[in-house]
Amino acid sequence: MITAEEKLSILADAAKYDVSCSSSGGKRKNEGGIGDSSRSGICHTYTEDGRCVSLLKILLTNYCIYDCAFCVSRRSNDIQRAAFSVNEVVQLTMNFYRRNYIEGLFLSSGIFKSADFTMERLMRIVKKLRTEERFFGYIHLKTIPGASEELIKEAGLYVDRMSVNLEIPTEEGLKQLAPEKDHDSVRKPLQFVDQQKIMLAEEKKLMKHVPTFVPAGQSTQMVVGATSETDYDIMKISSEFYKTYHLKRVYYSGYIPINNEHSMLPQVGTTPPLIRENRLYQTDWLLRFYNFKLDEILNPEHQDLDLDIDPKLSWALRNPQYFPIDVNTADYAAILRIPGVGRGSALKIIQARKFGKLYEHHLKKIGIAFNRAKYFMRYADSVRNWGDLQMHAIKTSILSSGTSKYLPKVASNQLSLFA
Ligand code: SF4
Repeated sequence: MITAEEKLSILADAAKYDVSCSSSGGKRKNEGGIGDSSRSGICHTYTEDGRCVSLLKILLTNYCIYDCAFCVSRRSNDIQRAAFSVNEVVQLTMNFYRRNYIEGLFLSSGIFKSADFTMERLMRIVKKLRTEERFFGYIHLKTIPGASEELIKEAGLYVDRMSVNLEIPTEEGLKQLAPEKDHDSVRKPLQFVDQQKIMLAEEKKLMKHVPTFVPAGQSTQMVVGATSETDYDIMKISSEFYKTYHLKRVYYSGYIPINNEHSMLPQVGTTPPLIRENRLYQTDWLLRFYNFKLDEILNPEHQDLDLDIDPKLSWALRNPQYFPIDVNTADYAAILRIPGVGRGSALKIIQARKFGKLYEHHLKKIGIAFNRAKYFMRYADSVRNWGDLQMHAIKTSILSSGTSKYLPKVASNQLSLFA
């Protein structure tokens, strides 16, 4: 008989491939129970490569009736299987929380028997945690594609965030690796949850007591590099999902080879595309917070992101007509486009120049990445001769300036629960 600790080891290990577990946006109120989803701080706890670590991150089971070639839990994979009972997950969560090991739960699952059979158990776990254990910590639940709307609706009352993984960014790629699945089964639950949220928000305008439903919103994850999609393909679907389903986040997860059985997949020993993953996150950020349009960064002529420089610098080097931007006169939106200037620094520039012209020493003090930004801006004491500057020379100069920002990052693994 397999022990609970062995199950935990198997099912926490299987869950590590899912990166979509950050916890921003939880606002659930503690009404006399244990935990706090908004003040727990888990959303600030990440490993070096961006993976969140302070949630208890487990699968309910790694049994699965599906055979997705990219997934370690697929039915044809010869691995040790395990399944928690509803009570075991509840007790584990409460024990770990009380011992201060975790600040929330990220619960996903393989699909045993059927989508509803699995979803019903997931729903019972979150319901029990909230209503019987009075647990008010953060809960992120992975919805099972194909599960009934009633179960999703009920689970949504108890969780902070829900997600459904798109897995493979293009329908064709998904069909090649997981012929039994399609994008529609991901779109449907995302759409359902989105509509419920919109409906309840409307009701809230008219009624005082409306139930909290998935307050931290929805997210999805895409596996990057398992199939041959371009960065443009990935960001196109990502942008569409943000817009259509009002997603909180899209996660990009570089494919980690797990077997040599499928000839289409990168084979074991192939390095996971972590730099590409990072460039996709940077692009996602530029689209959501820097007012870039997708076709400015990626388009049919430029379908893949540069790996050696970030997407904002890459855009700037391809668009010299926008520069130099005068930080003493340009508006916020234009200043945001200067490589090396973030949102905070752009605001500080706007505020600081109310008191006089900005010189080099002011800009350095504000905290911009001056060694990068200096090629793209004009300031009170700038001496650069813009007519002579060649973009390829700027790139060479930036790359040779020895900043660690452009050096490849080393992958780190999910922390062991027993280390
Ligand atoms: S359905 Fe989910 S858990 Fe099952 S094999 Fe596919 S990706 Fe893995």
